[in-house]
Amino acid sequence: MSWIVEPERKTEVVADVDVLVCGGGFAGVAAAVAAARNGKSVLLIERYGFLGGLATGSLVITTPPLNNGINADIARRLTQWDAYATDKRPKGGNPETDEVDGQSGIIPYDPEVLKYEFVRMLLEQGVEILFHTYIVGVLTNDTAVEGAIIENKGGRQAIRAKIVIDATGDADVTHLAGAPYQVIEKPITLMFNMADVDTDCALEHLGTWNGLKKVIRDGAANGKLAFDLGITPDFGAPGVYAANLVHDGQLNVWGGMLYSNAALDPRERTRAEIVTRDHAFRMANYLKRTVPGFENARLEQTSTEVGIRATRIVEGLAQPSKAAVQAGRFADTVARPYKGRKLALPYGSIVPKGIDGLLVAGRCISADAEIMGRLRLIPVCSATGEAAGVAAALCLDNHVPPRGLDPTLLQQTLTDQGVDLGEAE
Ligand SMILES: Cc1cc2nc3c(=O)[nH]c(=O)nc-3n(C[C@H](O)[C@H](O)[C@H](O)COP(=O)(O)OP(=O)(O)OC[C@H]3O[C@@H](n4cnc5c(N)ncnc54)[C@H](O)[C@@H]3O)c2cc1C
Repeated sequence: MSWIVEPERKTEVVADVDVLVCGGGFAGVAAAVAAARNGKSVLLIERYGFLGGLATGSLVITTPPLNNGINADIARRLTQWDAYATDKRPKGGNPETDEVDGQSGIIPYDPEVLKYEFVRMLLEQGVEILFHTYIVGVLTNDTAVEGAIIENKGGRQAIRAKIVIDATGDADVTHLAGAPYQVIEKPITLMFNMADVDTDCALEHLGTWNGLKKVIRDGAANGKLAFDLGITPDFGAPGVYAANLVHDGQLNVWGGMLYSNAALDPRERTRAEIVTRDHAFRMANYLKRTVPGFENARLEQTSTEVGIRATRIVEGLAQPSKAAVQAGRFADTVARPYKGRKLALPYGSIVPKGIDGLLVAGRCISADAEIMGRLRLIPVCSATGEAAGVAAALCLDNHVPPRGLDPTLLQQTLTDQGVDLGEAE
């Protein structure tokens, strides 16, 4: 390996805010709204030109119920546009959410409406948004994060913040700050949508949407469907997450998976984009040729980038076990994603160890890796975002770092603001 040493340089400070939210997925949006609602100046940085993260850009467009706290607000907004299709819950076939309490399935929503409403939610609360901006470094003193270094078309710039919330999904800020985390590897998946499928006809032929897997597996086995890219990634047959999504004739397809890819390695991640997109095209064409009902279908859209389930998860003050999260009776519960269900998280899951000035939210929070399959689901990401946003505001009001915040104060504020935290221990 060879190295270069970059020269020291002067970097302009372009903003000085109370709360800097890094990442604009479900977690970041919830965190920004919550901090702003509680009277703080908030800047949200996002590398793309839209909000929603995996839940829009990666075409993950099905969620368990959004029914508590800020999630209920989001559901209301989507419902106004007929874009939260509780009447179109697919039956079975979703390995991501079937894990969740064996509950009645998932709800499709329209990602374009979500992108629009997320921006409106932030602007209504006076949150400043900076799109097309990448977080590439942090400002720190000996003990605390004090802001971030960003890069965008304007060059390299700095932002000062009293509290930073890491909602990057990959815990980029935590990593840059040198705080502890672990890396977990999960399959990488490219989601794509097909349109103009005659779903009644297809189902008559397939039985259930799971029948698509057999079609693809058989095609690959008998050589009619080739994935000859000169490499041999392990390939999982596609699933269908939701038949007849918000729009009739639309299918959201899980386009195969690459296993054991290192999602933090840029070359591997590039390979994943190339391979999975190639697979998506081959599969869509194969379905058109072979499955009744797909004759007039087309590959409407592949996701902006491959879906990354997990990379870094932060080592927080608490790393609750699967059993504890499922029992959900922490003395310091600050996130209960689903009304009436036990699943809950303690305050320590959003407070990183070893550094101040930083909170985390979303799919990189702290818990035992065994339970992360449930904790990366959308409603959990926003519930932790909401808790982190309110916590940030309370830390500033009370002149304490996140590690010094009294969780009962956070619980009281969340409850006053409409979050049902259930029963404490
Ligand atoms: C294939 C697949 C299927 C899934 N299926 C379901 C499902 O059916 N239901 C469900 O509930 N969940 C599902 N999930 C999980 C769920 O989609 C995610 O865990 C959740 O959306 C994560 O939200 P988040 O806000 O924590 O992170 P993300 O959505 O990853 O958001 C992080 C944001 O930060 C931005 N960002 C990252 N790094 C930087 C940086 N350095 N600088 C600037 N911006 C940055 C990103 O662009 C992104 O907008 C699935 C996930 C995958 C991959």
